[in-house]
Amino acid sequence: MTATTDAISAQEHAALADHWSAPNYHPMSVVLAQGEGAWVTDLDGRRYLDFVSGYSALNFGHRHPDIVAAAKAQLDRLTLTGRSFHNDQFGLFCSELAELTGTEMVLPASTGAEAVESAVKIARKWAYQVKGVPDGAAEIIVAGANFHGRTTTMVSFSTDPSARNGFGPFTPGFTVVPFGDLDALTSAITENTAAVLLEPIQGEAGVVVPPRGYLAGVRRLCDETGTLFIADEIQCGLARAGATLALDDENVRADLYTLGKSLGAGLVPVSAVVGRADVLGVLKPGEHGSTFGGNPLACSVARAVVRLLATGEFQERSRELGTYLHSCLEAVDGVAEVRGRGLWAGVQIAEGRPTGHRVSEAMAERGLLCKENQGHLRVAPPLVITREEIDLGVDVIAKVLG
Ligand code: PLP
Repeated sequence: MTATTDAISAQEHAALADHWSAPNYHPMSVVLAQGEGAWVTDLDGRRYLDFVSGYSALNFGHRHPDIVAAAKAQLDRLTLTGRSFHNDQFGLFCSELAELTGTEMVLPASTGAEAVESAVKIARKWAYQVKGVPDGAAEIIVAGANFHGRTTTMVSFSTDPSARNGFGPFTPGFTVVPFGDLDALTSAITENTAAVLLEPIQGEAGVVVPPRGYLAGVRRLCDETGTLFIADEIQCGLARAGATLALDDENVRADLYTLGKSLGAGLVPVSAVVGRADVLGVLKPGEHGSTFGGNPLACSVARAVVRLLATGEFQERSRELGTYLHSCLEAVDGVAEVRGRGLWAGVQIAEGRPTGHRVSEAMAERGLLCKENQGHLRVAPPLVITREEIDLGVDVIAKVLG
């Protein structure tokens, strides 16, 4: 059976998904059919303000005209070559992304998890080839409550039981320390430590910002011990937290960064590892690869993203509107704490106030898409949102929590 949006109802779409798709998500009842800027519309024509932004994959909003134009132009020319050939987008993408991020080299991939997997492989190879770690002994230190994706290796060092249970055996070679605790990190680093892998601001954990000075301390420890610092900026980077890279805000540089989500602006999956040439340069032809990594369509979209970020407008919007968003949320009755930076907030719901799936559904009924997760809301509107739209969204949150 072929389902088209005109042929069947919203309920029938939901029923098809429920029946035919693997049950690894519990979606809300809305069936979305269109999006523009900060707004999406369901199949019955109801509009919703989007406070989720595809978990930061839509920093520039739905179907930003510059990005759509770049994709359409590329669709009419060339979409995939494989890396056995050069194409006229790839080199430009790498050089422009490196310039934007102040880095020296780019490894392209498609999904976030693939980028982090690649960074782990590179760090291990670097440890054996450059640091002199005995073969098979490389360790990577990660933080508790981390989220780096869903592959077998990524869930091997997750501290979330539901991400791990039933998926073993796990990949060895990871040590978990509490996020934000420099003493614990100091004790965990050994001569076999290849890298410290962290989200500078932990997204899935509820937008958790570490204490000021922690990230600079991580950099210092890595320098003292000859250890790589890998910053996973897949969710917090690309203007979400108010800077091109969240680490910029603390004047800290990582050796490798993983980027994803908004690098493809919600059009196509694009991710990358960017960083030091002497580290990424440990890879030799044939040792690593990805069929879709660096394809011309992805590169043209990401180049349009880089052009938008190079204006600085989105970083500024995130900082200014973020301050406004945070102050509005802090004033809501029923909010215990607001964490985060830029247009990004982890909103802890006060004791005794409604929580759970019904909160997300109640917000949707009032025209706001925003997800409740274990007692907190993660608020991440597209960076094209206006003050008036922030007011609308916060008003719905206040009504639902009140
Ligand atoms: N790293 C971080 C920090 C993330 O937030 C995510 C996704 O939420 C990932 C990695 C995985 O990205 P993907 O779902 O594209 O594999």
